[in-house]
Amino acid sequence: PYDVLVVGGGPAGSSAAIYTARKGIRTGLVAERFGGQVRDTLGIENLISVKYIEGPKLADNLEAHVRSYPVDIMTAQRVESIAKKDLIEVTLSNGAVLKSKTVILSTGARWRNTGVPGEAELKNKGVAYCPHCDGPLFQGKDIAVIGGGNSGIEAAIDLAGIVKHVTVLEFMPELKADAVLQKRLYSLPNVTVLKNVQLTEITGSDKVDGLNYLNRETGEEQHINLQGVFVQIGLVPNTDWLDGTLERNRFGEIIVDDHNATSIPGVFAAGDCTNSPYKQIIISMGSGANAALSAFDYLIRSEV
Ligand code: FAD
Repeated sequence: PYDVLVVGGGPAGSSAAIYTARKGIRTGLVAERFGGQVRDTLGIENLISVKYIEGPKLADNLEAHVRSYPVDIMTAQRVESIAKKDLIEVTLSNGAVLKSKTVILSTGARWRNTGVPGEAELKNKGVAYCPHCDGPLFQGKDIAVIGGGNSGIEAAIDLAGIVKHVTVLEFMPELKADAVLQKRLYSLPNVTVLKNVQLTEITGSDKVDGLNYLNRETGEEQHINLQGVFVQIGLVPNTDWLDGTLERNRFGEIIVDDHNATSIPGVFAAGDCTNSPYKQIIISMGSGANAALSAFDYLIRSEV
């Protein structure tokens, strides 16, 4: 068996595997796709000490760094279930069962898409999901935020300080965000809020030049010219496969303590799949390291 089996090969999993391998303990890493969300990212400017790096290059660097240690890497493998017996057993979709004394879950998350025409085509060409990451690219421009929940309104407040003008589009007749956020939003001079509207298309040929929406009250279709669209309709953790095993919150995020321990002894979790409040590369790397050191600490105290 492994001492530590890491599930996921994004920033959190890579960091965890490097930390445990450096303790000289037997480490395995199983992932569907090495690099995770980073592989889908155009440019990264907030990984401290790296001024700018393209996502696929960072993903390659993560993989090369992990491969420079004796880590047993299994890619293109999907994990389907986990069970605690004497050891922890992780079952892959091909039926294979991996056994380990401890497991670090780092399966990440994915942004929920609107699915409208133009969204996929113009991703990274004006369609964005992360205000902390891409906000500064839209300095002085007109943008829209799709979604009037807490994350949408937080994004709109944040972006209003950077961009020229923000239009918020909410499907329901009322915003769902906390009252304190709404109050803050409505106090800003460069924000327009459209409620009871449905985004129908993001327009532009090689970059975003506008969007179309349906006024749900009047049934009228309308167009706005703008240069950016931030989609904020939810971040979904990749944790469905854990149904009925360990404790998760109402968003499906794995609940961890300050040692990144989950509700199952010996199972730790790190990165975007957890209830960590902010989802960023540097934070995922930090929590991966924290989970790894905690797993090591668990191993030296345990009888298994
Ligand atoms: P992920 O990167 O999501 O990795 C998850 C890993 O788990 C992958 O290897 C995946 O294949 C694997 N996996 C999932 N389910 C299974 C399964 N069942 N079995 C096996 N393997 C599985 N953050 C920044 O800090 N700066 C930025 O500029 C930035 N820009 C972004 C741009 C975009 C377009 C996106 C989508 C995200 C961006 N982020 C940015 C967020 C950042 O990418 C994430 O916070 C970070 O990648 C999370 O790391 P993670 O290791 O927790 O998860």
